[in-house]
Amino acid sequence: LEPLYSFMIRVRVPGGAASAQQWQRIDELADTYANGTIKLTTRQAFQFHGVLKRDLKSTIRGFNEALLDSIAGCGDVNRNVMCNPNPHESAVHGQVFAVATAISAHLTPRSTAYWELWLNGEQQPSPLPEKALSDNGQPTTDNSNEVEPIYGKTYLPRKFKIALALPPYNDTDIFANDIGLIAIEENGELLGFNVAAGGGLGMTFGMPETYPRLADLLGFVPADKAVDVCEKVVIIQRDWGNRENRKLSRLKYTLDRVGLPAFVAELEQRLGYKLAPARPYRFESSSDAFGWSGDAKGLSHLTLFIEGGRVRDTEAVTLKSALREIAGFHTGDFRLTGNQNLILANIEPRHRARIQAVLEAHNAWPATARQTALRRNSLACVALNTCSQAFAEAERYLPQLLDKLDTAIRAHGLENDGILLRMTGCPNGCARPYLGEIGLVGKAPGRYNLYLGASYAGERLNKLYREMLDEAGILRELTPLLADYARQRQPRERFGDFVLRQGYVQATTHGLDFHN
Ligand code: SF4
Repeated sequence: LEPLYSFMIRVRVPGGAASAQQWQRIDELADTYANGTIKLTTRQAFQFHGVLKRDLKSTIRGFNEALLDSIAGCGDVNRNVMCNPNPHESAVHGQVFAVATAISAHLTPRSTAYWELWLNGEQQPSPLPEKALSDNGQPTTDNSNEVEPIYGKTYLPRKFKIALALPPYNDTDIFANDIGLIAIEENGELLGFNVAAGGGLGMTFGMPETYPRLADLLGFVPADKAVDVCEKVVIIQRDWGNRENRKLSRLKYTLDRVGLPAFVAELEQRLGYKLAPARPYRFESSSDAFGWSGDAKGLSHLTLFIEGGRVRDTEAVTLKSALREIAGFHTGDFRLTGNQNLILANIEPRHRARIQAVLEAHNAWPATARQTALRRNSLACVALNTCSQAFAEAERYLPQLLDKLDTAIRAHGLENDGILLRMTGCPNGCARPYLGEIGLVGKAPGRYNLYLGASYAGERLNKLYREMLDEAGILRELTPLLADYARQRQPRERFGDFVLRQGYVQATTHGLDFHN
């Protein structure tokens, strides 16, 4: 008898935009084949957990019918392209989102192996990249002459990540990506993007040659060149990336090895034109703006806090049921944010009160609005018992830790102060812990390294403050820091800036100085 293997499936959602019908299908599949929950990831994707091997094909067929796929969910290719989650907030959001989906389509591998393996080679209903189609427009099942024009025969040395953001919101944490595109607008028109490259947060304990790093600004390109510049950066990394040591194979190490001037010169040579100087911009936040908002078209949007990104029903809150009910009549979208939260977007005026009533009946909203801003700004990766890389708990444990930290937060009147707290079960960095004003990274069961001092806008990494803390140690270290912050902060001063000013840690300015 074969063991009962179970799997995680990551469903790609470029820019985090899913329709109500897609949400309904994901909800059904979670109940039918997974563990009855939906995980919203920090890269705006869905994850199913606990899918049995025998149900893999049925699950994939199920979301394929809803025009969703798992292509490039993993592997040494470009992953889910992130974008500010609500493209309907303004015309420029829509234009930025369109660029994100164009980049996603362009960098999707052309191989038909996915359909051959999981869908018996049948045509899938979403548009295939051109090169994957045979002359009659059907997906080709003959892959003997398959050409990957971007990835070639070797693919990339390692995974590749791209995110777009429209200032002042850096809610996709663009500097944590191999490529970050900062949209520059003027008078409601998208002019183009500042291009940043070389970000990535993973590292390995005990290997100081590995480190988290923020992307460097390279310059500005007009909007119609964004796909081209992404392609050329990917190709340089394909050709120049380290293929001997996977620990040092991300673009960030390539950049530090060759140096920024040489990298930019190569990029401009492959582009055939020069990058313009980067344009001025200003990020204010990498968090989500919770609650109701509206737009010029009269549509409403509601950003919901989803603790740990886990959509499920509990005794106290039947969130999953509420969202299923809403998906049955909501004519707008379900937008996954890069902070594991959910926006019910483009709500028609006639549905606003009904949606509010459904959420209230299920205790899903506005109950979360009464939680501390520390909790609402927290991120946690799945970690134990799902992720094989994990040394420690994250998603399952963080709510309990927050119960205790909330006591200190409330005692010092900080319940409305958004402080970015991010926890992972290992140093790979999936919940971007090194961009947390408070970062907790699992090092052993029940033990965490504590990092402090990242910026609220996602433009500065944090720095190691204490090692191997258990829960008592975390509370012992953080409680006086929070008290000090409440007492001595300057007007509007963020926690990450405060701990630097007070000298608790030194600023990390780039990445190479992360371990100093
Ligand atoms: Fe990622 Fe590590 Fe968390 Fe696993 S334990 S999800 S690899 S950060």
